[in-house]
Amino acid sequence: MAPERGGRLRPRAAAPPQARLRIAVPSKGRLREPAIELLHDAGLGPETPGDRALAFPCRNAPVEALLVRADDIPEYVQDGVVDCGITGLDIVRERGADVAELARLGFGACSLEAAVPAESPLQDLRGLAGARVATSFPRLTRELLPDVELVDVHGSVELAPRLGLADAIVDLVSSGSTLRTNGLRSIGILLDSEAVLIGPCEPRDDATQLAGVFRSVVDARGARYLMLNAPEDALAAICALVPGSRAPSVLPLAEPGMVAVHSVVPAHDVWRLLPALEAAGASSILLVPLERMLG
Ligand code: AMP
Repeated sequence: MAPERGGRLRPRAAAPPQARLRIAVPSKGRLREPAIELLHDAGLGPETPGDRALAFPCRNAPVEALLVRADDIPEYVQDGVVDCGITGLDIVRERGADVAELARLGFGACSLEAAVPAESPLQDLRGLAGARVATSFPRLTRELLPDVELVDVHGSVELAPRLGLADAIVDLVSSGSTLRTNGLRSIGILLDSEAVLIGPCEPRDDATQLAGVFRSVVDARGARYLMLNAPEDALAAICALVPGSRAPSVLPLAEPGMVAVHSVVPAHDVWRLLPALEAAGASSILLVPLERMLG
């Protein structure tokens, strides 16, 4: 569990229920802009923060965003300094804070991976027993690789094997290009991470509601609304092609023998789906973005 704050920032007494919801947002780094964009897409109307702003209000909801280092957010949430916060799951796990994950946010995807120099004989995580492993994630590494010797480093972890400090590293990877550039090869994933909304174990009702709104935005970003026209006799083939959770709506058109088909489809499938629908007889195909998906 993360240590209690040593008095510099005293946890406030529990906020009265009508007080504005305080949400911590990363003040810099790769999670800052997508987190603010999420507040935007959730309809909260965040005031655009200047580069040096420490906090900003939202126009459309009783929500105040506080800009805080992503690393500090789990502790701030645990101590009740804020009501909820957006940060990386890897950070939450590394800090060991006593908080609840309220929603997965679909950005900041990366994984905590073990990597070795390309020429190393080590092939998998089991082979790491007894090896010296450099990382800035000592807690997670100790938990997930209990048999290694930890070399605690802060920054430029990839250099440690080249400097002779370690046999392997454990670090965050997204595309893998930093590993390759540094002559390293991944030998296994310890944790998959993405940005998450966290709150205390008993969150305020409005924090739980906000989590639902965020989920509806995240789900909508991964989906598209598909509309097309088709001859009735192609309907079975077209419905068989359309994936997704809901049965498509089929509507009669003014032209006899023709119907319109509407459905929600996964965004990642669209490249495959549209040519297949056309080949099956669909015409006037429209694909539009969604803002929210609920229920
Ligand atoms: P930053 O403040 O830019 O160092 O971002 C830190 C957080 O961004 C990490 O804790 C991860 O949750 C997330 N992240 C996503 N991809 C990567 C990556 N390739 N390297 C480091 N952090 C990443």
